Amino acid sequence: MLIVQKYGGTSLGDAEKVRMAASRVVKLHQQGHQVLVVVSAQGDTTDLLIEKAVTINRRGSAREMDAYLAAGEQMSAALMAMAIGAMGYPAVSLTGWQAGIETDGVHGNAQIQSIRCGRIRRELQQGKIVVVSGFQGVDADGDITTLGRGGSDTTAVALAAWLKADKCQIFTDVDGVYDRDPRIYRDATRFGRISYEKMLALVENGAQVLHDRSVELARSHGIAVEVLSAFTGAPGTIVGTFESL
Ligand code: ADP
Ligand code: ASP
Ligand code: MG
Repeated sequence: MLIVQKYGGTSLGDAEKVRMAASRVVKLHQQGHQVLVVVSAQGDTTDLLIEKAVTINRRGSAREMDAYLAAGEQMSAALMAMAIGAMGYPAVSLTGWQAGIETDGVHGNAQIQSIRCGRIRRELQQGKIVVVSGFQGVDADGDITTLGRGGSDTTAVALAAWLKADKCQIFTDVDGVYDRDPRIYRDATRFGRISYEKMLALVENGAQVLHDRSVELARSHGIAVEVLSAFTGAPGTIVGTFESL
């Protein structure tokens, strides 16, 4: 099987967590699966980068902000590849543009238009675990773009769609999708399964657990997305085509 796994910022917050994610990925590789990992910047990196940039120029150009912020995911991807390498398995990290992710030119909120999958396919065929930097792509001018806050989810779903992956899993710091933010509401109820429509409604009401475009893309390509905990690995919530859910 070809499996896409995305790890969010908190799930990669320190070296131990990076190793935990790496060992989950390695286990799948050992089982004979092809594994494509999408990573976010570690912890609060993106917020910290924004704060820092603002001290240099309050109104820095969107183009330069994208070039700057994309670095957070690139560091994370290289670290993940190093963690996998340290476990004795072959891995290669790719930036969004190395991975062939082409977007429009809307800096800070770019939309993925197509993905040239040749490089990723070659690396997978050579038996490597491929680690792609989330949240970024390249526009028609060759400039770095970013996909909007939370956009690594969209990178993962888009790659799963273009590569026709068998599975798309979004690992995060909660164990699934709830009817309300489980960090705020202790009595929130968890879904085992949820339809794209209901998920979109949650996202529109501010549930940042999935990036809005990732849900739209999953729906239009018919990709089932599983949202699950990076810390337990227990089965999470499946977002898919479900009548009356
Ligand atoms: P990641 O860094 O993994 O992308 P995010 O912070 O973007 O994680 O999304 C996970 C967070 O979404 C959770 O920690 C949770 O507080 C929040 N959240 C908000 N609404 C919901 C919801 N309805 N179900 C689950 N999580 C939610
Ligand atoms: N690092 C980016 C953000 O904080 C993208 C992501 O986490 O998905 O918004
Ligand atoms: Mg997120």
